[in-house]
Amino acid sequence: MLRADTVIAGDDLVPLENCFVVVEDGVIVSVGPDCDELAVDVELGELTVVPGFIDTHVHLSSDASPHLDLNSSLDLATLLLRRDSSDDLTTLLLQIVSNVQRFLRVGVTTVRDLGGPFTLGSEVRDAINRGEIFGPRLLVANRPITVTGGHGHRIGIECDDTVALRRAVRQLVKDGSDWVKVMASGGFANFRRSEGKAPYFPLFTLNEMRTIVDEAHRYDLPVAAHCQNREAIAVAFEAGVDTIEHCTFAASPHAVLDEDLVRAIAERGTPVVPTVNNYWLTIGVPWAPRDIALANLRRLHELGVRLVAGTDMGLPTTTPEMYAEGLKVFDAIGMDPRQTLASATTLAADAIGLAEVTGSIRPGLAADLVALAGNPLTDVDAYSRPRVVVARGQVLSFGASVRTPTGSDRARR
Ligand SMILES: [Zn+2]
Repeated sequence: MLRADTVIAGDDLVPLENCFVVVEDGVIVSVGPDCDELAVDVELGELTVVPGFIDTHVHLSSDASPHLDLNSSLDLATLLLRRDSSDDLTTLLLQIVSNVQRFLRVGVTTVRDLGGPFTLGSEVRDAINRGEIFGPRLLVANRPITVTGGHGHRIGIECDDTVALRRAVRQLVKDGSDWVKVMASGGFANFRRSEGKAPYFPLFTLNEMRTIVDEAHRYDLPVAAHCQNREAIAVAFEAGVDTIEHCTFAASPHAVLDEDLVRAIAERGTPVVPTVNNYWLTIGVPWAPRDIALANLRRLHELGVRLVAGTDMGLPTTTPEMYAEGLKVFDAIGMDPRQTLASATTLAADAIGLAEVTGSIRPGLAADLVALAGNPLTDVDAYSRPRVVVARGQVLSFGASVRTPTGSDRARR
């Protein structure tokens, strides 16, 4: 059992004072003020306990090296796989394991990997689930679906007709994927001739996108679509994808929202992962000057789009440790602090189909918790100060002495 002065609990993220969280076999069995203090195993004192964070968009096989030049003719996967030997597989596998464990250290207890080489993601996921490696809960897409020479093609499955698309989805099912990732548009990470003007055009027709979604849903696999430009967003949305990634409305010379489309997305409730990260408030993003990018994001929020936290970890300098920087972007556009916390917890869990598994501190869900120095409902910087992380009931402490109360502590209370 854990105790803390403040626990932000339940699906409404309500702060409870002097709160006890009882955990059995990795699952929360009760939350509330009435408990036997003698039974407290982990005393968290002044730390604020929130649900474990979720990063809904990462690329675990990347080392996020600042030296990756994403505007060169080489793309990320080319750089990762350029030596084309078994050494690279070992390197990639170790990179994935290292990244998942680094995520845990910053309080991220659930990660959705949206595109990686081969079946490495699902192999690491299975090893975690078997208890062979300690790590966060992992959902994986494995190889992304793209067109010949399209965005992510070095690691992806290249498809140019509906037969190939059906086969690709079935292969991903066979590979143990939890999600299907489709590149609905080109990307800023690799301008390639075969994509035309890369981010500004869709890669698939509506009929092709429908084929992907229908086939994936037939196997109960949800679909996440990488969408930069308006057409790609429209195609993915009309085809019924389950999450829209980026959703930047990229155009030349800079991104312009289609508010009618945004309203339709908001109305249907399709979650959008705008991949907020350490770029937005510093050097900026490639689809618009910083102020315009932030104004567009604010408009998505104002129009009622369900925005969810996901960093695109794996981009140069976007390491797992940058997770909190993304939440600061939501804060910067004026999002209510409770909504910001929801974007990283309850809403994120719901977006990726885990609302009955994690994302909230309530009985029946996994004991995925973070104890922060500071209260994120009053201080967004508190997200950068995780001190104790609990993942499926296992307690990890970083820079905080987790003490088991002694008899004299108990007498004092
Ligand atoms: Zn990505």
